[in-house]
Amino acid sequence: MTSLTTLSIREALVELSAGRISSLELTQAYLDRIAKLDPKIKAYLTFTPDLAMKQAKAADEKRKKARDKTALPPLLGIPLAVKDVLAIQDLRCTCGSRILENYYPPFSATTVQRLLDAGVVILGKTNMDEFAMGSSTENSAYFTTHNPWNLTRVPGGSSGGSAAAVVAQLAPAALGSDTGGSVRQPASFCGVTGIKPTYGRCSRYGLIAYGSSLDTVGVFGRDARDVALLYEIMAGADPFDATSMEIPVPHVDFSQNPDLSGIRVGVPQEYFIEGIQPEVEKAIRTAILQMKSMGASVHAISLPHTKYALPVYYLIAPAEASANLARYDGIRFGLSENEGNLLSLFKNSRGNGFGSEVKRRIMLGTYALSAGYYDAYYGQAQKVRTLIKQDFEKAFEHVDVIATPVAPTTAFKIGEHSNDPLAMYLEDVFTLPINLAGVPAIAIPVGFDSENLPIGIQLLGSHFREDQLFKIAHAYQLTTEWHKKTPDL
Ligand code: GLN
Repeated sequence: MTSLTTLSIREALVELSAGRISSLELTQAYLDRIAKLDPKIKAYLTFTPDLAMKQAKAADEKRKKARDKTALPPLLGIPLAVKDVLAIQDLRCTCGSRILENYYPPFSATTVQRLLDAGVVILGKTNMDEFAMGSSTENSAYFTTHNPWNLTRVPGGSSGGSAAAVVAQLAPAALGSDTGGSVRQPASFCGVTGIKPTYGRCSRYGLIAYGSSLDTVGVFGRDARDVALLYEIMAGADPFDATSMEIPVPHVDFSQNPDLSGIRVGVPQEYFIEGIQPEVEKAIRTAILQMKSMGASVHAISLPHTKYALPVYYLIAPAEASANLARYDGIRFGLSENEGNLLSLFKNSRGNGFGSEVKRRIMLGTYALSAGYYDAYYGQAQKVRTLIKQDFEKAFEHVDVIATPVAPTTAFKIGEHSNDPLAMYLEDVFTLPINLAGVPAIAIPVGFDSENLPIGIQLLGSHFREDQLFKIAHAYQLTTEWHKKTPDL
C-alpha cells in the first residue's frame, strides 16, 4: 500500500473498518511525517504525540470490542489538526499570541467536542496569525509557517498552519477559523479545499473571539467530500452559542454524476479587477468554463457595493476585536506582569503580551467606537454592511452560486508585505465581503501559476446552502485533478 498519509479520510475509514490498518498505525504515520517535515514547514505550534497515541489506542480498542460495527462513531481513529484559536480542554491554546502562552482552557470548543465524540485523534494545534489577524501567519508571535509548495512563500493566513499541514500530509484534515478569509485564502495558497460555513451554522463556543459578528469555524481537507464529512458533524445549533441557528443540516448527496445542469453560476464583474494576477484570472475563468461544460449556466452579475467591503471590514472587525480583547487584562488568565500596582499590570501585560498588528487593530477599533466617532465610523460601517448583504441577497434571486477568485494573487513571499499593512489587507479584498454578508463559501484548487503555486476559486452560496457548494465542488473534483496535486517535500 502507498503511504498511509496519502489516504483521504474516507479511504482511511474503509481501511480501518476492514481491519487492514489500525488507528495506531495511521496516527504513527502522521507523527513520523510531522517529526520529519514539520521542522521545515512549521505548521504546528503544539504537537501532541502522546495524546494522539492514547486516543488512537482507545479508538482501536473501541473498534475491536464493538458488537455492532455500524454503531461506531463515524470518524473513529481519524487524526485531525486544530487551529490554535479553538479550545481543547487541558491543551495549551495560545491563539498565536504571547499573552496566551500558558493558557490551558478548562473546556473544549463545541465544534472540537463534536469531532472528539465522533472519534477523532488530535495531532496538535496549528500555527496562525496572532488572534487570527493577518493573511500570512507572519503575525504569529512564535514563528512563520512556510508554504509547502515553496518554502520561501507564505501559506496564507490566518489559518496558514492548518492549510500547510493538510497539503503537506501532516494531517488528513484540519480545523480553521474564518473572519475575513482565514480559511479560504490559505486553502487557495496551499492548494487544498476549505469551507467557511454560513455565519450561525457552526457554534463559536470555544473559538477565541476576534470579530464576533464575522467569526466562523471552518474545515480544510483534501477534497470537498472529506471537508463535508467533518462539517456535517460540526454543524448545527448549540445552546452555548446564541447565534448558532436551529436550521437542519442537509446531508449532501455525493452521487458520482458530475452533472451540473440546472445550476446557475453568477460571475460578478467587481471581482475581476485591475491588479489581479493574470494567471489567477485565467485559471478562474477556465474553471467556470469547465462548470459550464458540465451543464451549468453562467451569468454575468453585479455586486455593486463590493468596493466598500474592505473599509467596512476594517472598521467592524477591529471595533469588535478591541472589545473582545479587553478581557486580556493580566488578571484572569494569560500573561500577567506588574510592578505592584493595577495600572502597571494592565500596561505591562497588554504591552508585552500583544504584537504590533493586534495593537494596531485595538487602537483602530477603540477609536472607531469612541464617543463622538461611533456614529460616523462604526454606525456608518454597519449601514454599508447591510447594503453589501443586500447585494448578495439580490444576486441569489437569479443565480445559485457565485464564482470568484479567492485572492488576487498566488502565495506571496515571506516578508513581502510585512511592513505594509494595507498591502496585506488588500490580499483579502475578495473574501471579506462574504463574511460581512454571512453567506457560506468554499475554496477549491483550480490550477497553478507559472511558479507552480496553487490558485483557488471561491464558490459562494446563499445562507445555509453549504450543501450546494459541496455538491458543485465535488462535481468539479470528479472531473479534474488539481486537488490531487501535492508538493515534493
Ligand atoms: N486577514 C483578515 C484579517 O486580518 C482576515 C483574518 C481572518 O479571517 N481571521 O482580519
